[in-house]
Amino acid sequence: MPAPEDFGVEMVGVPEGAAIELDLRLEAVLEGVLVTGTATVPLEGECARCLDPIASTFEAEFQELFVYPDTRSGGNAEDDELYLEDDLIDLEPLLRDAVVLALPLSPLCRDDCPGLCAECGIRLADAGPDHRHDVADPRWAALRDLAAGTAAETPERGSGSPGARGSSDRREGKQEG
Ligand SMILES: [Zn+2]
Ligand SMILES: [Zn+2]
Repeated sequence: MPAPEDFGVEMVGVPEGAAIELDLRLEAVLEGVLVTGTATVPLEGECARCLDPIASTFEAEFQELFVYPDTRSGGNAEDDELYLEDDLIDLEPLLRDAVVLALPLSPLCRDDCPGLCAECGIRLADAGPDHRHDVADPRWAALRDLAAGTAAETPERGSGSPGARGSSDRREGKQEG
C-alpha cells in the first residue's frame, strides 16, 4: 500500500506514496478478526549528527484484534479498542503505532558517525582524525569579554561583582539616556 502523508518523525520517515509492503494473516476469532503481520517500509531521513541523507528499510511486526462493532468485550473493555468498520479493517493507526513510534528520534548514518566539527562544521568522517583548530581556552574567552566590557563601559560597576558568574548574564551593558 502507498504510505500515507506525514508517516514518520522529524528526522526520518517514510516518503508519502512510497510502497509499504505488508505480510498479513487474518484470523477469525470469537470477538472479531485478529491481524498479525509484518510491514516493511522504505525510510528516508537525515543523520542527526552529520546531516548526511539516510536511506534504509525498516521492518515492524504487529498484532492487533479488531472487534465486531456489536461485540462487548466484557469487563476489560478499553477505549482504544479497534473496531471493524463495515467488515473492513483500517490498518493505518496500527501501522503508525508499529512503525512511527519505533523510529529513532536521532537516526544515525552509521553507529559511530563522528558528526560535524563544532568549530568549522566540516564532516569529521571526511576531515580525518588529525582535524583540529587552535582555539583559545573558552575559560579565557569569558575573561577577555569581561576585560573588553570593563574598558569600554562603566568601570564603577565592573569592579563590584564577582567575576566567576560568566559573561552571559551581566547587565552592565545597559545604556542610560
Ligand atoms: Zn552521520
Ligand atoms: Zn573544524
